[in-house]
Amino acid sequence: MRLTFLGTGTSSGIPMIACTCPVCTSTDAKDKRLRSSVMIEADGKTLLVDCGPDFRQQMLRENVTRVDGIIFTHPHKDHTAGLDDIRAYNFALKRDMPLYLDAFTESEIRDQYSYIFSPNPYPGIPRVKIMSISGETPFEAEGVPVTPIKAMHHQMPILGFRFGDITYITDANYIAPEELEKIKGSRILILNALRREPHISHYTLQQALDLIKELQPERAYLIHLSHQMGKHEDVSKELPENVFLAYDGLVLQ
Ligand SMILES: [Zn+2]
Ligand SMILES: [Zn+2]
Ligand SMILES: [Zn+2]
Repeated sequence: MRLTFLGTGTSSGIPMIACTCPVCTSTDAKDKRLRSSVMIEADGKTLLVDCGPDFRQQMLRENVTRVDGIIFTHPHKDHTAGLDDIRAYNFALKRDMPLYLDAFTESEIRDQYSYIFSPNPYPGIPRVKIMSISGETPFEAEGVPVTPIKAMHHQMPILGFRFGDITYITDANYIAPEELEKIKGSRILILNALRREPHISHYTLQQALDLIKELQPERAYLIHLSHQMGKHEDVSKELPENVFLAYDGLVLQ
């Protein structure tokens, strides 16, 4: 299995529009963060988790010629805004794009993209195949086994996903004890950490570090970072030896 970080930034990305802070003006490539998403390559299939506003740029950067399916964590726009651009894969692969989503995310995406689901669709719109999942039941995404993990994003129930010994959790700020059991034993944990100051719907750096300590993965990578977290180089120096800031383009084998 191979995992590529397509983007590691929060909803505004870094640099943030119109911000002149030291992080947004940094010349370090690791301080340029597109909106959070990962690509999983396993069993000959290529899957994405989420499809945000930087999807097109991410696919071009990584030269991705095939996407077999997209799995959604939740319907916030920084995770869904790229959906119109799946047309490229409809044309290239001559197939509808399977979207793996729970009932809540499906209903929100039907609202966000009503033209896709119109009874009389305009020619050339994205073609999708809804693959219903729930937080309760492990499923296969194009044959790749996935265990969903239920988490809370303020009051919104969202999903994390475990692929073998890699677990990916974005946009959470609470995970119930029974769901934490599903993460235990992961060698790699990818977890959101927005910034240092408290936030209503995201783990802070300290909350993420506390959870990593409790779950004891071999390695952990932090994602969905705000410019308020600080520069990649500076923050990296403060982290425990098995915890890293992810960065765009990083690949884990
Ligand atoms: Zn987000
Ligand atoms: Zn900034
Ligand atoms: Zn969100």
